Amino acid sequence: MAKKQFKAESKRLLDLMIHSIYTHKEIFLRELISNASDAIDKLYYKSLTEKISGISRDDFFIKIAVDKAGRSLTISDNGIGMTKDEMEANLGTIAKSGSLLFKSEDMEKADTDAKKKAAEKAGKKIDIIGQFGVGFYSAFMVSSDVRVISKAYGADTAYEWESKGTDGYTIRESVKEDAGTDVILTIKESTPDEKFDDYLNAWQLRSLVKRYSDYIRYPIRMDTEKTRTKDAKAGEDAEPETETYIEEETLNSMVPLWKRAKSKISEEEYNGFYKEKFGDYEAPMKVVHTGVEGVVSYDALLYIPARAPYNYYTKDFEKGLQLYSSGVLIMDKCSELLPDYFSFVRGLVDSQDLSLNISREMLQHDRQLKAIAQRIEKKIKAELTEMLAKDREKYETFFENFGLQLKFGVYDKFGMNKEALQDLILFYSSSEKKPVTLAEYVSRMPEDQKFIYYAVGGTTEKIDKLPQTELLKDKGYEILYGTDDVDEFAFKMLMSYKEKNFKSVSEGDLGIEETEEEKKKAEEQAESNKYLLSAVKEALDGKVSEVRLSKRLKTHPVVLVSGDGISIEMEKVLNAMPTGEKVKAERILEINADHGILNALKKAFEKDKDAVKNYASILYDQALLMEGLPIDDPVAFSNAVCSLIEKTESV
Ligand code: ADP
Repeated sequence: MAKKQFKAESKRLLDLMIHSIYTHKEIFLRELISNASDAIDKLYYKSLTEKISGISRDDFFIKIAVDKAGRSLTISDNGIGMTKDEMEANLGTIAKSGSLLFKSEDMEKADTDAKKKAAEKAGKKIDIIGQFGVGFYSAFMVSSDVRVISKAYGADTAYEWESKGTDGYTIRESVKEDAGTDVILTIKESTPDEKFDDYLNAWQLRSLVKRYSDYIRYPIRMDTEKTRTKDAKAGEDAEPETETYIEEETLNSMVPLWKRAKSKISEEEYNGFYKEKFGDYEAPMKVVHTGVEGVVSYDALLYIPARAPYNYYTKDFEKGLQLYSSGVLIMDKCSELLPDYFSFVRGLVDSQDLSLNISREMLQHDRQLKAIAQRIEKKIKAELTEMLAKDREKYETFFENFGLQLKFGVYDKFGMNKEALQDLILFYSSSEKKPVTLAEYVSRMPEDQKFIYYAVGGTTEKIDKLPQTELLKDKGYEILYGTDDVDEFAFKMLMSYKEKNFKSVSEGDLGIEETEEEKKKAEEQAESNKYLLSAVKEALDGKVSEVRLSKRLKTHPVVLVSGDGISIEMEKVLNAMPTGEKVKAERILEINADHGILNALKKAFEKDKDAVKNYASILYDQALLMEGLPIDDPVAFSNAVCSLIEKTESV
């Protein structure tokens, strides 16, 4: 029979599995049992929703069978099974996952075993098992041959899929009485490094099931050899004889993890469950397990991942929690259970108060579900608040991963949720040199400071050098730095915190109170430079709405600030978007009255009114560059600067 080839992606994964240096090869069993359990879930759900008679929950089971002599290990289930097409689609290809690609490239670079070992030692754990869609392939870590015999529920014909690894697979017709699937592994021969024989040992298998799959809600059965004493015959006083017999044993306790007492669940169990169920290869940073009894009763097991998934900030990411009704999985990603700003949370909710037949459309209006969602949101918020208070370092790591989403949440829906989120967001502080909360900022504000100041830009280093921040820093005011595109919008949406308004360092008016003396001095300076300033404005030919002397600069010669309406930062963000009309912020050019440049301009102006034209555009371009904005004519700018150098050096 002609062999079919695996899709390129699958082939790579398979290669990885076969040559895996992964030390926990034993988890293949967990993966196969989990697939079996999912297949049963599917059939059970179908039987309930389609009202198929003759199927009872008690009929379902998973069976493990060992043939030591033949080196085979079989995992069977009486779940939904697979048609020929499904076998082709599900076992011939794997889901494409970004992080998987990344990891396998790492592996490929390590082309010898020695290098792989070294890479592993260097802390680069090549741990890809448990990522979405790789489960089944883990069988190849321990098997020289894998056969899958399956009959789809309601079908007449069974099919057998077989593969020895990367050279491809075959599918042929087969015989199987009942619907369901048998996965038959031929276990590899033991080597000095790997005791594959363990996977043919009943005692070892039992302990693996206990360790990794205890919570599976269907019985996992295995025939085990037991011994008993034979009844002693009357009158004989010889030693009682023993005999061996086979008994089918259920290996798992069948209580779902979330139904067990918190105190009885180890971290390993929580984390193992998470990795397997939600396809992460890293343990979560936080586990939240809660049970609520009341008007609506439910159990929830929630996880905050250690890292944002590779597609988290893309359209492809789908939020949601698994939804169970009395232990029956009814929906894989129920998005109604999570607000967008907590979309990073993974996990499940199990409630006896929900109907099995609930449809997507009905969900949105379901009162019970809404009540659960509200409580879950509260719970997540409380957990995050606690983490922030008690484990700052951890919270900062969390915020590095998901803070952006919280800031989106502040801005989203016209600021509807800003109050709920404002105490969870962090911004880098100019004075503390680390992320701080708004409450911390406000608590440190000096008496005379009226506003919460913020500055936005690409990086903290860049913002730190902005001329706009000079005076504020000089006055000892703290400035919050925003380095994400959304930050300017979030600050604007927040508007105020604890009755203190936010103010951008680039705003026209910084709102700093002046003494009478300062005011007077400023007025005089403005008056005496009136003609010069309007000549500069004119020279800039509409590029700025105003040219004035600055109150915010200390050492820098010039700066651009925004007028009313949209800010220069917003202009940058909006114009970087692929769609939408281009916008332009009102620009004001400020010149430092205490800088030598003003005197130089004055002198030039007195000598030759036209000379100012040239200087005005150089100063404006400089201000643009400092602001991180492109200049209209870089060649003209460069020529102008060169001719200045020539002039100075030739006198
Ligand atoms: P995942 O379980 O993450 O989807 P796997 O590679 O483990 O990825 O399995 C791929 C698919 O093959 C499953 O999604 C399922 O559709 C199918 N499958 C695997 N094992 C079984 C089984 N025992 N019964 C029915 N279908 C199965």
